[in-house]
Amino acid sequence: MRSLGIGRILSTLLLFLVSMQNCWALPKHQPVPGGVAIVPLSSGESATYKNLPVMVMEDEGQSFAVVGIPLSAKPGNHQLETSSGTIRFAVNSKVYETQRLTIKNKRKVNPLDQDMSRIRRDRAEIDAAFVNFDTNFPTATEFTLPAIGPISSPFGLRRILNDQPRSPHSGLDIAAGDKEPVTAPAPGKVVATGDYFFNGNTVLLDHGQGLITMYCHMSRIDVKKGDTVTRNQQLGAIGQTGRVTGPHLHWSVSLNNARVDPGLFLSESLVDNQQ
Ligand SMILES: [Zn+2]
Repeated sequence: MRSLGIGRILSTLLLFLVSMQNCWALPKHQPVPGGVAIVPLSSGESATYKNLPVMVMEDEGQSFAVVGIPLSAKPGNHQLETSSGTIRFAVNSKVYETQRLTIKNKRKVNPLDQDMSRIRRDRAEIDAAFVNFDTNFPTATEFTLPAIGPISSPFGLRRILNDQPRSPHSGLDIAAGDKEPVTAPAPGKVVATGDYFFNGNTVLLDHGQGLITMYCHMSRIDVKKGDTVTRNQQLGAIGQTGRVTGPHLHWSVSLNNARVDPGLFLSESLVDNQQ
């Protein structure tokens, strides 16, 4: 117990020192589908990947492109287009496990025709938020967990819902009781909120330079579009709205419109939390 207390004091002190210097740690380099590639750039260079602008960060005087790699990416050579030419980087393979789930509300797996216009509208709103690229505020890439609870479903699982293959799990799920708080993992701006068919009550936060996070299935939303939020500010409460098997937070992290593993942005390890 004593060591836990000291650990907490040390981590608070570290966070304080980091925020004093306003120097954010880069996410972990894990160049796989659903991962992040950190690619050195020349000073002042900008870059695009798959025709979208990518985040550029400085670390100890060196410029880096921080590139989100979609889960659908093929392993092999990928390329960044920069202001001075093409930079190649390797994407390695990663095998994600398969998960089978049974959803009681069959309409959430096979929507009715009358649901389709709402689903299309939801998707357009969410997709528009994911392609934001805002450079008007400092980019925050070091996250704290947005809810307290066990990781009930990790990022990237290949999913079979009611025996039908569906898109892979594009976020991570934190199981917690109904009404437990959902908090901002870093400073950001609320770019969308809504009650969506699959995602339920949802908040999307912009952390700058194409880094967008999404919070789904909430029972309550406490912020509105345009709000600026600070780290750990409450966004709402855990719930079970949308397509769920029970109350939990679905947390997605998107970088240059690629949904990537949120664990790469956390300073604490998720391993202890997995069981
Ligand atoms: Zn989920």
